[in-house]
Amino acid sequence: MSAHTGTLYIVSAPSGAGKTSLVKALIEAMPQVQVSVSHTTRAIRPGEVDGVNYHFVNREDFLARLEHGDFIEHAEVFGNLYGTSQRWLEQTLAAGFDLILEIDWQGAQQVRRLLPEAQSIFILPPTQEALRQRLTSRGQDSDEIIERRMREAVSEMCHYVEYDYLVINDDFAHALDDLKAIFRANQLRQETQHARFTGLFQQLLA
Ligand code: 5GP
Repeated sequence: MSAHTGTLYIVSAPSGAGKTSLVKALIEAMPQVQVSVSHTTRAIRPGEVDGVNYHFVNREDFLARLEHGDFIEHAEVFGNLYGTSQRWLEQTLAAGFDLILEIDWQGAQQVRRLLPEAQSIFILPPTQEALRQRLTSRGQDSDEIIERRMREAVSEMCHYVEYDYLVINDDFAHALDDLKAIFRANQLRQETQHARFTGLFQQLLA
């Protein structure tokens, strides 16, 4: 196990802002960064894989885990339950990985209370029209659901002021660069560098 403990990141966004694609590209580019796989009671969507996108469980199973204290945070979003495994979070950070939680504003508030050092990032669409178009082009939902998701997106976006960093996803490559810059800057923080390169400082100052 590394002496260096990883940094915890919270990434939130309204549905359709491109959060999942951006996080996927980020972890491909930065192998020291991992993303948490949440438990959810939501039905699996086409293309999703159990254990990769989420751990898909039924409500009874979720509530039993909740009762057992397995989740560091949990929330009900669009009528489905979501939660983050505390054990996995602690193990991943202790192993020295930076860890991303892709969670909503309710979960973000819970994590900030417990772990105030967590860095939080909110991803926004460039316009409301762009968001609507992205929700429509997914082709998975009816007009009624899209309108509901637009309303839910606006209520999620109301919380952007609670976050440390804001990334506007107008151009994917630019937004990805912005995300990488946030991670890189945090990796270069004095206390992080000091924990990683203890031997170097001993040698330089001898
Ligand atoms: P989706 O079902 O579309 O993948 O996600 C719906 C919403 O639930 C998104 O805002 C997503 O960030 C949020 N979410 C996913 N996993 C978790 C989790 O473990 N905890 C919380 N609080 N929200 C989550």
